[in-house]
Amino acid sequence: MPLTAQLAEAFAAIVGTAGLSTDPGDLAPHLTDWRQRYTGRAQALLRPASTAEVAAIVRLCHQHRIPIVPQGGNTGLVGGATPDGSGAAVLLHLGRMNRIRALDALGNTITAEAGVVLATLQDAARAAQRLYPLSLASEGSCTLGGNLSTNAGGTAVLRYGNARELCLAIEAVTPDGQVIGSRDGRLLGLRKDNTGYDLRDLFIGAEGTLGIITAAVMKLFPLPKAQVTGFAAVRTPQAALALLERAQAACGSTLTAFELVCEAALELVEKHYPGNRYPLGVRTPYGVLLEISDHENAAHATRLFEGLLEDSLEAGLIEDAVVAQSIEQSRALWSLRELISEAQAAEGQNIKHDISIPIGRIAAFIESTDAALAAAFPGVRMINFGHLGDGNLHYNVSPAPGQVPADFLGQQAAINRLVYDAVDAEGGSISAEHGLGQLKRQDIRRYKSPGDLALMRVIKTALDPLGIMNPDKVL
Ligand SMILES: Cc1cc2nc3c(=O)[nH]c(=O)nc-3n(C[C@H](O)[C@H](O)[C@H](O)COP(=O)(O)OP(=O)(O)OC[C@H]3O[C@@H](n4cnc5c(N)ncnc54)[C@H](O)[C@@H]3O)c2cc1C
Repeated sequence: MPLTAQLAEAFAAIVGTAGLSTDPGDLAPHLTDWRQRYTGRAQALLRPASTAEVAAIVRLCHQHRIPIVPQGGNTGLVGGATPDGSGAAVLLHLGRMNRIRALDALGNTITAEAGVVLATLQDAARAAQRLYPLSLASEGSCTLGGNLSTNAGGTAVLRYGNARELCLAIEAVTPDGQVIGSRDGRLLGLRKDNTGYDLRDLFIGAEGTLGIITAAVMKLFPLPKAQVTGFAAVRTPQAALALLERAQAACGSTLTAFELVCEAALELVEKHYPGNRYPLGVRTPYGVLLEISDHENAAHATRLFEGLLEDSLEAGLIEDAVVAQSIEQSRALWSLRELISEAQAAEGQNIKHDISIPIGRIAAFIESTDAALAAAFPGVRMINFGHLGDGNLHYNVSPAPGQVPADFLGQQAAINRLVYDAVDAEGGSISAEHGLGQLKRQDIRRYKSPGDLALMRVIKTALDPLGIMNPDKVL
């Protein structure tokens, strides 16, 4: 659906020529999702530079009933930022809204616009001797607005919480074009503010279906004095859980990451990114990447960490372990973990399950679900890794060797049903941190309570009666 000359003029009057494009070459990178599962079409790419411009765009779209698909770094894994194939929508890209508005070192807050890239926020915090703890493998591209809209998790949730827990205030534009959250341009990040319904939380995790997040105030923390990273080889997920319990008892709140990786996932990284090497002599079916962040000093951190690993080795929980001796070695360990998604993408099609279940049930879940999948879909390979400390697994399934990709993807609904029913039986969630987008909007109807779904629809209809905000996502 081409943009009419009249609308093109109206949009250009808001965002200027720098903020509007209908050129297919400019639009193309924004119309396909990171996993290349979804491709859509859009009338135009709009790149506003301020909250006032976002509000004016939304008012115009509201007036003409034009669907709006918000997009940040386009790293989402559930097709949430990809428009449908009708070409009716405009794509609202927040990339030009990339200012850090304020950093309050005493109050431990940072106020930034939605298009600021996560790594930029981390760097700005570090420059002020503060930690912005949200950390994802996509941090070089994903944005604050996308992180909040998906309630992103990542590797530091264990200690610092997910995006929702890090957020103190949000500025957003509602589907009829009102700016909420800031008054007279002021966005306050108060730690205490009990003045009625929590509007901020409505927008977090809403995946752009209730409005556009334009800015937020996020929490900062003191920069740790020392960080120590290590990798331990374990035979089973059960042993990894026993190590987690021991690490929490020994390290308390200094334990900031506890990631489980299966051997097959590490092999994929070594295959597709040959610079990355498995760090131990002993190879076991699973490994654990642990990190502690210490507020005393490096010697204290190393003592704590080495003590934990020695005790665990003696107790027979781990088979071997290594402690990074330099920042480079620590980066190398993290790189093995963070390249898994990309290595899986390079390997070919896979079926992802971003799930969470009560931590104590994870080992039993893996054992029984692996067995059920092997029986129902002979030869499929499990690529299993995740944020074990949060009960969050990326329980991914790859095709059997030599299986035609189309045949494998033809089994997606049946594989999903088997995995999600098993998650549900354990009292878990079928979306731990990636959201529902378009990938899981049908599946969720089977697992979320009818009452919850009905109330979500009431909220959606109340805020967006015309249904223009990121249609056909989530609900
Ligand atoms: C290699 C890799 C590793 C990853 N690891 C993790 C991980 O560990 N943990 C995790 O949680 N996720 C992870 N992700 C998923 C992804 O990076 C996150 O979901 C991220 O928060 C998305 O941010 P984005 O800016 O790219 O958002 P996009 O992909 O652009 O958008 C995501 C959703 O948010 C909406 N949206 C974007 N900006 C706004 C806005 N300003 N206002 C309203 N709605 C908006 C979009 O419409 C869409 O529904 C990973 C992805 C990759 C590719």
